[in-house]
Amino acid sequence: CGIVGYIGPREAYPVVIKGLKRLEYRGYDSTGVALIDNGKLNVYKKKGKVAELEENVIGADLHSHIGIGHTRWATHGEPSDRNAHPHVSNSGQFAMLHNGIIENYVPIKNDLLKKGYTFKSDTDTEVLLNFIEDIKKNNNCTLEEALRIALKRIVGAYCILLIDEKDPDTIIAARKGSPLVIGIGKGEHFLASDASPIIEYTKEVVYVNDYEIAIVRADELILKNLGNEKQTPFIQQLDME
Ligand code: GLU
Repeated sequence: CGIVGYIGPREAYPVVIKGLKRLEYRGYDSTGVALIDNGKLNVYKKKGKVAELEENVIGADLHSHIGIGHTRWATHGEPSDRNAHPHVSNSGQFAMLHNGIIENYVPIKNDLLKKGYTFKSDTDTEVLLNFIEDIKKNNNCTLEEALRIALKRIVGAYCILLIDEKDPDTIIAARKGSPLVIGIGKGEHFLASDASPIIEYTKEVVYVNDYEIAIVRADELILKNLGNEKQTPFIQQLDME
């Protein structure tokens, strides 16, 4: 339901948590964040409010300069800790969160089960994530390329954020039918499902279009279509209202 991402010199966790609170008005049943510290992916997620997740992670490793966070409105799988986002791929290398619905996830899941993939949740999201991982392995390609191939084969609506434990300098985002705004700061980027988590940091934003993939680094924003052609980001000024 709500999505927040941060990459840059600040501590990501407080930025993401604050942003998720700004999106609480949308309604949700679970909360989660994924961070990377020292080459290790740390995912914390829980059924319930953002404040409950915060209490739950006291003492945990929250240090990171990359972070993605989600408030879930369950569509596939009951509200529970294990169905909360972000999800982690079978290899443990990739974490992803998602707003929306993957309509054709059942045949994809059956195919992955035959190949030996296991699932820790009942969500359509975890299926898409492992589908991407499987495509990456089979084609020996980049994560971005695997995502592109996967997105051409799924039916549904999505805004996703995807991170790679081995590449803590990049958030990959994509959308179709579910909004995504990217805030452009000085040497940092903010991602969210609407501008409310971003407005206190920067007024410069890019609204990502349907069927676009964003490769977001602290000092770089690359937009591409599903044909791998670069798109020029259209930077807009947020209204103070
Ligand atoms: N379909 C996904 C799920 O049920 C995402 C729901 C959402 O948009 O929050 O987990």
